[in-house]
Amino acid sequence: MKYISTRSGAPDLEFEDVLLTGLSPDGGLYVPQAWPQFSKNEIRDLRGLTYAELATKIMLPFMGDSIPKDLFKKIVEETYAEFNHRAIAPTKQIGHNQWVAELFHGPTLAFKDYPLQLVGRLFDYFLTKRDKKVTIIGATSGDTGSAAIEACRDRDAIKIFILHPQGRVSEVQRRQMTTVRSENVFNIALDGTFDDCQDMVKALFVDEKFRDAHNLSAVNSINWARIMAQIVYYFWTGVSLGAPDQKFIYAVPTGNFGNVYAGYAAKKMGLPVEKLIIGSNENDILTRFFASQNTKGTMSMAPVIPTSSPSMDIQISSNFERLLFDYYGRDGKAVAGVLEDFRHNKTVNFGHECWQKMRKIFECYRVSNSEINSAIANVYKTTGELLDPHSIIGVVGGHKGHTNPANIMVALATAHPAKFPAAVVEATGITPNLPAHLADLLEREESYDVLPNDLDQIRDYIVNTLKKK
Ligand SMILES: *Cc1c(COP(=O)(O)O)cnc(C)c1O
Repeated sequence: MKYISTRSGAPDLEFEDVLLTGLSPDGGLYVPQAWPQFSKNEIRDLRGLTYAELATKIMLPFMGDSIPKDLFKKIVEETYAEFNHRAIAPTKQIGHNQWVAELFHGPTLAFKDYPLQLVGRLFDYFLTKRDKKVTIIGATSGDTGSAAIEACRDRDAIKIFILHPQGRVSEVQRRQMTTVRSENVFNIALDGTFDDCQDMVKALFVDEKFRDAHNLSAVNSINWARIMAQIVYYFWTGVSLGAPDQKFIYAVPTGNFGNVYAGYAAKKMGLPVEKLIIGSNENDILTRFFASQNTKGTMSMAPVIPTSSPSMDIQISSNFERLLFDYYGRDGKAVAGVLEDFRHNKTVNFGHECWQKMRKIFECYRVSNSEINSAIANVYKTTGELLDPHSIIGVVGGHKGHTNPANIMVALATAHPAKFPAAVVEATGITPNLPAHLADLLEREESYDVLPNDLDQIRDYIVNTLKKK
C-alpha cells in the first residue's frame, strides 16, 4: 500500500514513513492510493470478533509489508487491553434504532485515545527498528494533547511538545497535560486560539531546516495512522448492530474533520453508511458550507467563539482537505490552489458540483448552547445516559438527520462527561465522577510555559529545550 499527498507535490510513501512524517513536505496530507475493500461476506465474518481482532483485520491492508502480521496483532491487542471497559467501545441504545457509541473508555477519556494509544506504540516499534529519535510537535484544542502525551510519555525515542490555546481548554483538559511528570513531555500555553496553535505547528513543519534538524513528527489528526485507527470503531459498531445487513447513519461531533472523515473512509471500504451527519457548535463554518441555500459551495472563515465544547472550537478543519482531494478527482494541484486561495482570502468557492456531490453523503447541523443543555437533560432523563457537551452535539445532529427510521443512527460519544463537568452539572444537577485513575487530578502539580503567538519565539523555545535535554 502506497500513500500519496493531497497536493501531489511529494513522493509516494509506505505506511512506515507516513506514520513517522505526519504532514507531507508539500503542505498536503497523506491518503492511501486506493481504499481496501471489504465485501458483504467479509464484513459478516467480522461478527463475534473482539475489538482488537476486528481492529487488526480492518487495519492490516493499510500496513502493507511494513510490519509482520503477528507482531501488528500483538501491538493492537496490547493497545486496547489497557482500556477501562471490557467492550472497548460499547454501544448504548437511546431510542428506536438510535444508539450512542461510547468512545471515552481510554486513559484520557476522549475518543482520541483510540487512535493515539496505537500510534504511540507504532512509533516506538518503528523508531526502535530504525534506531532513530523524533521530536513530536502538536497543537491541541484540548483532547489531542493529553491523549498524545499519554501515548508518548516515557518513550526514549520521543520528545513531545504540545501547544494549547491559553485559557481556552477546560481545567480537567489542561491538567491532564500539565500534570504528567515525564522527562520527555513539554507543554506550551500559546497566547492565541487553537487555529493559531495549528498554524504554528504547520509553519514549523514547512521550515525544512528546523524539521530535518530535529526529526519533526506529528501526531495531530493530520497523521494518517490516526484516521486509520478511527475507521475501526465505525466497523465495530456497524457490525455489532447488524452490518452489512442494515444501513447506517453516523452522527459525529466535528472539529478538525478527522473523525467524520474516518466514517467516510469506512463507507468507501464497504460499510453500508447512508449518511454522515456533522454536528457543529457555534463555530459553524461547516454548517454554513453545507447549508442548502449556499448553492455556490462557498466556505468562509469567521472568528472562533469559545463554547462549552472547546475541542470543536475550530474554524479550519484540516482533514477536509482529504475529502476535497477525492471530490476533486484526486487532482492535487487543484486542491493546493484552492486551499492557498482559502488561506489567503479566508473565503473560497469549492464549486457547485463538488458541493452538490458532498451533500449526497454529508449533512451538517449547528447545535446551540441552549439545545446542548436541554438535550443533555433530556437524554439523561429518558435513558440514564450522561453525555458531555461534545457527545450531545452528535446526538442532537443525529436526531435531526435520522429521517428514515429504518436506518440505524449511531451517534459517536467523543468524551467522558467528567471531562466537561460544568455543562453536565448545569443540565442535570449531577456531578460526574472522574474514573479512579484520575481521581486526584485536581491536586496534582502542574508544569507548563506561556508563550506569545510568535513563530520565532516558539522555535527558539523548542531548540533551547532540546539542547538542555
Ligand atoms: C477532537 C474532538 C472532537 C472533534 O473531532 P475531529 O476529529 O477533530 O473532528 C470532538 N469531540 C471531542 C471530545 C474531541 O476531543
